[in-house]
Amino acid sequence: MIPRLEDYALTVPASLGEALDDLARHPDARPFAGGTDLMVVLEAGHLPPGRYVSLQHCRELQGIADGSNGGVAIGALTTYTQIRDSVRLARDYPLLGAAARETGGIATQNRGTIGGNIANASPAADTPPVLLVYDAELEIASASGSRRVPYAGFHRGYKQMDLAPGELIARIHLPPRIGTHAASGLFSGAGEGSVSYYRKVGTRRAQAISKVCFAGTIRVEAGAVQEVRIALGSVAPTAIRAVRTEDELRGQPLDMDAVAAAERTLLSEIAPIDDLRSTARYRARVAANLLREFLGRAAGQEPG
Ligand SMILES: Cc1cc2nc3c(=O)[nH]c(=O)nc-3n(C[C@H](O)[C@H](O)[C@H](O)COP(=O)(O)OP(=O)(O)OC[C@H]3O[C@@H](n4cnc5c(N)ncnc54)[C@H](O)[C@@H]3O)c2cc1C
Repeated sequence: MIPRLEDYALTVPASLGEALDDLARHPDARPFAGGTDLMVVLEAGHLPPGRYVSLQHCRELQGIADGSNGGVAIGALTTYTQIRDSVRLARDYPLLGAAARETGGIATQNRGTIGGNIANASPAADTPPVLLVYDAELEIASASGSRRVPYAGFHRGYKQMDLAPGELIARIHLPPRIGTHAASGLFSGAGEGSVSYYRKVGTRRAQAISKVCFAGTIRVEAGAVQEVRIALGSVAPTAIRAVRTEDELRGQPLDMDAVAAAERTLLSEIAPIDDLRSTARYRARVAANLLREFLGRAAGQEPG
């Protein structure tokens, strides 16, 4: 169905305060950030008519700044391009830049925002697994104040999230890098030390939504896994942290038995579905392959 533009109202507040007042006065209104998701839905004729509140002039939602306790605070309106180009993020949180580089093409990266990626609530989105690995917290703002919630649990089910009418995502807080966060590169490591690993498998590199997306950090010392964090997208109704697989690996040497046991555990804690982009069977296979590649890198094997 061709949309009738007169059925839509877009207000353009000059500040975050005005945007929040607008959202409070009109509980059915929805934020409009980069529009890369919303415009596709509009074009497809599926965007509900009504009121949209542009965040473009909310300077308070922009940029990457020092957060509390040595962490970092990323404004919800920060684009993939800004994330990709951030020296601070590249040094301390390399998985985020890796996800940004894999998200859409340059035009999408220039317009699309991290807040919009979270609020779009797609289980195939590329930044959520990284936010799980880094223990992100979300700062949620409304006209009556703000609250902070762990990102883990924010998505409660398919397209469901802990966001009330009148609220928006203001900032993403990443805690200071510790342990496995202190990775020096995406494929660093030679059997000892830390490795960060991000891999998106899609039909075409970058332009396609993930069939499976995998983010992990691991620290191997004295021949055994000391710390490990693993999260995946597109294998459940929301992005998931593979906590049982992590438990399976912690304290183990990265030998063939440990890797095989971890693969079995991973397959028991993901629940991929068949859809337009892929089959459940293929997704499960890819998830296990990515786990094996990640652990292979940590064990010091050269990329295949
Ligand atoms: C060609 C193309 C390729 C793409 N490729 C990828 C990809 O590879 N990986 C991927 O993950 N995504 C991809 N996307 C999807 C999209 O670009 C991202 O999800 C993007 O991050 C959305 O951000 P946005 O600012 O454009 O959101 P918008 O379209 O403005 O909004 C999306 C949703 O979030 C809500 N929203 C926006 N900001 C906030 C906020 N601060 N608080 C609360 N709600 C908010 C809106 O109301 C809306 O429901 C692609 C899109 C296109 C068009």
